[in-house]
Amino acid sequence: MDLVFFGIQGSGKGTQAKKLAAEFGYDIFEAGGELRKIAALAHRSPEGEGGSESDLGKTVKSYIDDGHLVPHEIIMQVVKEAIAAKPKTTKILFDGIPRDELQMRDFDLVLKAAGRDVLGIHFLLSIDEAKNRILGRAKAEGRADDADTEIIERRMKTFQEKTMPVIETYKKAGKIAEISAEGSVDRIYEKLKAIVTA
Ligand code: AMP
Repeated sequence: MDLVFFGIQGSGKGTQAKKLAAEFGYDIFEAGGELRKIAALAHRSPEGEGGSESDLGKTVKSYIDDGHLVPHEIIMQVVKEAIAAKPKTTKILFDGIPRDELQMRDFDLVLKAAGRDVLGIHFLLSIDEAKNRILGRAKAEGRADDADTEIIERRMKTFQEKTMPVIETYKKAGKIAEISAEGSVDRIYEKLKAIVTA
């Protein structure tokens, strides 16, 4: 069974994903991380070379920098290729996708075609606590999209308005386990492990 991690920015799901992957052998597909790699190509291609790659990189970077979701076709192509590249026996932990209802629909189709089944985990955290944590992370990791209050607000609004309905749909289908993301990393991890090994 594959896993899909849901949680507001700052919920600590990335940290939990790394711990779980290390102990239980999941491959992590981190949507934001994959897109940041593509955005980094915007800087790398020299003049006149790799034009289309750098164009894609520039496009992706502009969305990330503004705190908007990257266009549907781009993220779906990235996740589709990542799934196709993995043997069926590899367990995948998806972090940061699907983020809206259209992605959910296409993601479901891609999973079905690949013969994969997912359980969602929702890391619950209040908005106030999420904001405190994310500003701390901006300092630690030097991420511009974490340091700007207006952009953080926009990303959190996207989570509330677009991703929450996805979580609700998973929940109605009985495909969500909820974990409080307040408290220590170790305590949260114990709860996560209990769910995954149940
Ligand atoms: P994150 O690291 O999950 O906070 O994502 C950082 C940024 O990457 C987001 O603000 C979006 O611009 C982009 N991004 C991440 N995941 C997705 C996705 N599933 N669909 C579209 N854009 C995404």
